[in-house]
Amino acid sequence: AKAAGRNNYQFYAERMSAAAARHFELETQLHGALARREFTLLFQPIVTTRERRTACLEVLLRWRHPQRGLVGPDEFIPIIEENGLIVPIGEWVIRHACEQAVAWRRAGVRAVPLAVNLSARQFMQRGLVESVRRILDDTGIDPAQLEFEITETALMQHGGATLETLAQLDCMGIRLSIDDFGTGYSSLAYLKRFPVHKMKIDRAFVRDLETSGEDQAIVAAIMALAGSLQLAAVAEGVENAAQLELLRRHGCDYAQGYLFARPLAADQVPLLLAREDGA
Ligand code: C2E
Ligand code: CA
Ligand code: CA
Ligand code: CA
Repeated sequence: AKAAGRNNYQFYAERMSAAAARHFELETQLHGALARREFTLLFQPIVTTRERRTACLEVLLRWRHPQRGLVGPDEFIPIIEENGLIVPIGEWVIRHACEQAVAWRRAGVRAVPLAVNLSARQFMQRGLVESVRRILDDTGIDPAQLEFEITETALMQHGGATLETLAQLDCMGIRLSIDDFGTGYSSLAYLKRFPVHKMKIDRAFVRDLETSGEDQAIVAAIMALAGSLQLAAVAEGVENAAQLELLRRHGCDYAQGYLFARPLAADQVPLLLAREDGA
């Protein structure tokens, strides 16, 4: 038993140091990744549940790692949140998304709002509103074409400053969604005061929707809340027709998920929108 215990410990220590080494390696490489142009954006449609027509595109960041290939944000966002690189990288995401919107418009593509994710640290950063204003000026895009998604947890963390930042973005005409709704703890009083426009129902409540009465009750409750606060609701992670049907029945007007489309490269978006328009 003692030997086994020791082996377990050794195994654990080795695994830990492998994870730590990987973290260290990624962190080092992340420092130059922006300058080396290793980041890229994908775009995932958010569709109307009735017509399945794209109403918005969520902007999703990817890191083209020279050895590891495409690395997803769950692996590197926590690292750059911690070391502060989220601020310049996040700014690049907003700017690049707006530039993409301009390029699509010039190519005659139907204008669809782009929803950019903002993490807690970006949202707290003092220069955010200024930097967004500069990007809007530089690219000349209509602020109504830009939306931000902020997680419920990030929103609820910072009371007063949050409200101020949200109000300024709202004044500029940028719409805001509460991301991953239902996974954090919202104060209903705050929800009412925040100038937000959409709630995104977290994938956790959609995954087992067909079989879980509990998840159906949660979705019904979120829909009732969205209704009384006059917010639009978007369901995340919709993968099959049964989920879509239930969401429709609960009055959810928008959905996103593999049932409709995976996150797409920029050059695939015009084709998708043209197909929807019957071109
Ligand atoms: P999120 O905001 O909840 O984004 C939705 C995630 O669900 C995306 O993962 C998307 O690819 C995935 N997804 C969409 N439909 C389905 C589906 O039907 N089934 C399943 N299983 N998954 C689906 P992704 O792209 O890996 O992004 C993960 C998280 O990283 C995002 O979660 C968001 O919080 C964060 N993130 C992504 N891009 C950015 C960014 O530019 N800035 C910041 N701050 N965070 C970002
Ligand atoms: Ca999101
Ligand atoms: Ca989400
Ligand atoms: Ca989520």
